[in-house]
Amino acid sequence: MPVSQKRQLNRSAELQRRAENLLPGGVDSPVRAFRAVGGSPPFAVRGEGAYLWDADGNRYLDYFGSWGPMILGHAFPPVVEAIQHAAANSASFGASTPSEGDLAELVIDAYPSIEKLRFVSSGTEATMSAIRLARASTKRDYIIKFEGCYHGHSDGLLVKAGSGVATFGIPGSAGVPDEIAHFTLALPFNDIFAVEAAFAEHRGQIACVILEPIVGNMGCVPPVDSYLQALRDITQREQALLIFDEVMTGFRVAYGGAQELYGVQPDMTTLGKIIGGGLPCGAFGARSEIMDMLAPLGPVYQAGTLSGNPLAMAAGIATVSHLKEHRNEVYARLEALSAAVADGVAAEAARIGLSLTTNRVGAMFTWFFAANSVIDFESAVTSDTATFARFHQAMLDQGIWLPPSQYEAAFMSTAHTMDDVAHTISAAKDALQGLAE
Ligand code: PLP
Repeated sequence: MPVSQKRQLNRSAELQRRAENLLPGGVDSPVRAFRAVGGSPPFAVRGEGAYLWDADGNRYLDYFGSWGPMILGHAFPPVVEAIQHAAANSASFGASTPSEGDLAELVIDAYPSIEKLRFVSSGTEATMSAIRLARASTKRDYIIKFEGCYHGHSDGLLVKAGSGVATFGIPGSAGVPDEIAHFTLALPFNDIFAVEAAFAEHRGQIACVILEPIVGNMGCVPPVDSYLQALRDITQREQALLIFDEVMTGFRVAYGGAQELYGVQPDMTTLGKIIGGGLPCGAFGARSEIMDMLAPLGPVYQAGTLSGNPLAMAAGIATVSHLKEHRNEVYARLEALSAAVADGVAAEAARIGLSLTTNRVGAMFTWFFAANSVIDFESAVTSDTATFARFHQAMLDQGIWLPPSQYEAAFMSTAHTMDDVAHTISAAKDALQGLAE
């Protein structure tokens, strides 16, 4: 497509002014406001495949995919049809539906660590409920999380969190009582000695260790060699539960998520994003003995008016079935496209002499404007966020929409093509050149 070098954003700017009077910051989720990168956020009105259109008619190549769910691209016809068909039979029943079992079977088949699961309406609900269940099943109160990991916005999980919390430099959210934050031990990611030390200090008191097995929410940060296995060994020894928050990585880095990729089985898994095919959906699952502690079988309460919503189930089934059926081609294609774009842009930066550290696992990656390797939150925040902001703006001006924060992962979909990759590398070359001048 002809790139929109001189984007007009009149309509988006008008919509933003209206939104700011109606919604705090004009948004329903903070990073959307573009505060970290500046400029007026384009208002999205349509998506098709790898592309998005804004309210002024500008077209963008999409590298954030609704923050992960759109692995098959926007308005993928089987997903659209499934939603339409389900909607024609009613948007919601508040009663059990066959579709919940259909999606549960698909997920359980893909994740051998899960024997039973429960659907919820967001990743936040999934992790919040998983923690409650972990505390109930171990009869312990402390939890371990890692600095820069984001598990949604429930109180105890906002301590030293990633994503928007990192983007806006909020150490812990206002409104979370100290008494709740006290039970969250936030440790550096990829540092197994810190985990050993925390268990030594709180022996018999730690219910679970929750992590993004590949972090996406401080930018993409993979686990170092044998880190996940070491966490598995320690939690087993200490009789604490290991929770992989695969809301982002589930069905993305491999059909069976990070647990399949690294061959480490957690006790509990949380999912979201892709399993809802773009509709609000999350899930948490584990062995039956843990899951059966949930009401109505057990004493742990958890519920939801729209949980297992038939439209979300239909979109999830259409998405996951497609991934299952075309599993080999899908993940090989995502790997090839993502390697080409991530390495191609990294090579342009190297040619120009700019410090860029590229982290990638499959179709999730981040270009950190940092000189050294990024392995944890401390190294992630050495990134030059002002330079990232200029890069982001320059890419957007050329019709390429990256996630609007240095501390987020970019995503590709099966709808992207090698032509899109070539276009992105050429745009990045210009953008990086502009930064160097
Ligand atoms: N866990 C992870 C790893 C996430 O990336 C996110 C959201 O980005 C969440 C949990 C929260 O999910 P949601 O935004 O659906 O509440």
